[in-house]
Amino acid sequence: MQVEVSRRKFLQGSVAMSIVGGSSIGVTNLLASHDEKESKTSITTKTGTGEAKEVATLCEMCVNKCAALARVENGVVTKLNPNPLFPKSKNMLCPRGNAGIQALYDPDRLKHPMIRVGKKGEGKFKKVSWEEAYEAILNGTDKFTGMNKILDEEKDNRSSFLFCAGEGMAEHTFKQFYSAFGSANWLNHASLCLQTVISGYGVTLGGYPQADLDNAEYVIMAGANRAEAIVTPDTMDIFKRTKRRGAKLICIDPRFTNTAAKADKWLAINPGTDLAFVLALTYVVITEELYNKKYIADNFNGFDEYKKSIIDNKYTPEWAEKITNIKAKEIYKIAREFMAHAPKSVYYPGRRSTFANNDFQLRRAMAIFQGLGGGIDTKGGLVFGKKLKLGKHEGIEPIYAQAQGRAVDEATNKEKGKPPYNDCAVVSGGGSWVAWRNRYLEDRMPYKVRGMFIYKHNPMMNMPNTKKTAQMLEKMELVVAIDTMPSDTVMYADVILPEATYLERTDPVKTFGGLEPSIAQRNKVIEPMFETKPVMEIMRGLTEKISKPLFEITKKYDEDVQDELKDSSEEEVYAEFDLTKPFEHSQEEVNEHMVKGLYGEEAVEALKKHGVFYPDMDKYFKQLSVNEHQYYPEKEKAYSVNGGRPKTKSKKVECNITNLASKGIDSMPVWKDEYNFNVPNGKFRLLTGRHAQFTQSGTSNNAVLRDLIMENYIWINKREAVKKDIKFGDMIEVSSSVGKTRLKAYPTEKIAPNTVFFVHGFGEESEALTWAYKNGGNDNAVIEDIIEPVYGAASMHETNVEIRKV
Ligand code: SF4
Repeated sequence: MQVEVSRRKFLQGSVAMSIVGGSSIGVTNLLASHDEKESKTSITTKTGTGEAKEVATLCEMCVNKCAALARVENGVVTKLNPNPLFPKSKNMLCPRGNAGIQALYDPDRLKHPMIRVGKKGEGKFKKVSWEEAYEAILNGTDKFTGMNKILDEEKDNRSSFLFCAGEGMAEHTFKQFYSAFGSANWLNHASLCLQTVISGYGVTLGGYPQADLDNAEYVIMAGANRAEAIVTPDTMDIFKRTKRRGAKLICIDPRFTNTAAKADKWLAINPGTDLAFVLALTYVVITEELYNKKYIADNFNGFDEYKKSIIDNKYTPEWAEKITNIKAKEIYKIAREFMAHAPKSVYYPGRRSTFANNDFQLRRAMAIFQGLGGGIDTKGGLVFGKKLKLGKHEGIEPIYAQAQGRAVDEATNKEKGKPPYNDCAVVSGGGSWVAWRNRYLEDRMPYKVRGMFIYKHNPMMNMPNTKKTAQMLEKMELVVAIDTMPSDTVMYADVILPEATYLERTDPVKTFGGLEPSIAQRNKVIEPMFETKPVMEIMRGLTEKISKPLFEITKKYDEDVQDELKDSSEEEVYAEFDLTKPFEHSQEEVNEHMVKGLYGEEAVEALKKHGVFYPDMDKYFKQLSVNEHQYYPEKEKAYSVNGGRPKTKSKKVECNITNLASKGIDSMPVWKDEYNFNVPNGKFRLLTGRHAQFTQSGTSNNAVLRDLIMENYIWINKREAVKKDIKFGDMIEVSSSVGKTRLKAYPTEKIAPNTVFFVHGFGEESEALTWAYKNGGNDNAVIEDIIEPVYGAASMHETNVEIRKV
């Protein structure tokens, strides 16, 4: 057989990095004034334990990655302070950020590699060395099957392993292992998180924009709870200006949240009906011709079709009132006010998970509505911002002849206009977690998947229908978990590899786009404690163990490789499959190479010392008052990067996307009867959400944060509570068709009678978590596995539940 060497995407030598050249920028005087100030404070210790040093790092207590300065005294991290230099976090560290020390010193954290010795999920593990853990992964034990056997039996089908990861700066390093390993099965948190938001804005405006809340004059915040769910500097930007202080905030939410309390107006909407609200706003703007005609003529595709659809479907405020519970006169008023302030008005895009099955079309409708006033890529509207370049860091991606494609469920009926897959219309890079799990359990896979790697991810807590997730983990023959904490998911692992916490490792350098773009780096604050390691080192050790034995399997089943070996030495051919290559350099070395070629040695030093770098930082950065800083002068801020246009290929707002119709998706946002809010008598619609003092289940065991919120409570309308004789603190059982959970009652007027709510992330079942164990209720134990039809995202607010006092 003729060998096509070019079919392997192998990077010669696999130096694991290739650097894009560029000019070096002088930063000689970088932050001289800050240094001066820092040197005075950093050597003073309050504990009297000796000299302190300060290390610039990035917070990992949530996705925002605020910059922090860690004070270290005699090798102990004693305080985390905000780092004023980072434009994204503007000298702020929220309660969770401050509680990061507890993540480091949590006595429950995973300290050593372990292998399972009891029944799956029972939580019985044996402490082993790293070498023994790697050996168990490769060759198994009497309790579980090794990777060698699985891949041999599956004839080198690399896709017989699933890889999944949660969000984090080192996710990229883990993903390199996945790419080199050669599986096609990758699942991340996207379908449990922002997938429909990102995609809805992506196809309509060409990107997921940020809201310029600092300059907007009018903001509609619907289904987003910034004052309570994520308190970051941009949260502050809006609330310091509400209540007649410069910006008008309209809050649309089924609950009276903290955001509602700080808004100028709160309108209680029926859950899942925001799309009807936006369509009615659009109806008013179109029929009253309030839109920016020139902007639309220059920057819209398909506006006439959309206008016709809105008018023909009679999406009037009166129509929407019956669906949404928002008075028609309010809809007229909001539509007119929004356009009166345009382009400095914002329909806030939100950054939450999918709540309802119509979420993708809701985001499309919101993006189009925003465009009607021209508030795109402009000050006070939605902005795309700039991103600073980083050098490329490449891994290897060998192609294994026996590796099957991603395990998807293709529709047999390929008729035009019908969805191409049975689970959802589009299979994204992050896949549909719920659909994948359910197909796996129902034996609807195109081939056998027998093992999985889980990195910093807790699907037992984060995915609807916990019972099914447990069944999936039980069914897998080899589960390897890399994590810092013994979560509910880790309890189902066969091999546990303990990762160092974020304060003990340097992570891949990252570029942060926006109005004031910068590059930031998480630097190692102290050496990893116990036997933990950063994921780069974990991967190095693992690949050194498995790379050659797995190549033997490839040799056995891959005819192309067998042919290559006739003409080339084994060493040469193996080099293409050498899994150790992407991990041979330290993270510090990789980071240096990604920065140095573009910005010079001084940028490398700035990132190590200050954690932050951007060109001209020494010139631009100024302290303006006690807690106010300038990062870029006003004229240098990236309010407009595309001449006020969207970033789609056509540079237009895409109202009518006919390609979507070929996949069975409506080409324009429309309302369907099945979207109507409907709760049978005796039941309640379950709403879930997050709180700024907790990050999902990731911080549930943090004892410092538990001082702020002990546990989650279920919100029940006061009148309903009286009918059921439920008082504050009574224990309530919440049940649905998929399971039950228990938590305490909070009767309140702040929620409608047919709706209940509780915060996500509580109620873990892992006994290894001292503080989180059975603390409050787990929403995903009762949320049904309802799949949004476009991307297969989990619809979190489509479940009706029953409640009873116990
Ligand atoms: S918002 Fe808070 S938890 Fe999130 S990164 Fe910033 S400081 Fe950390």
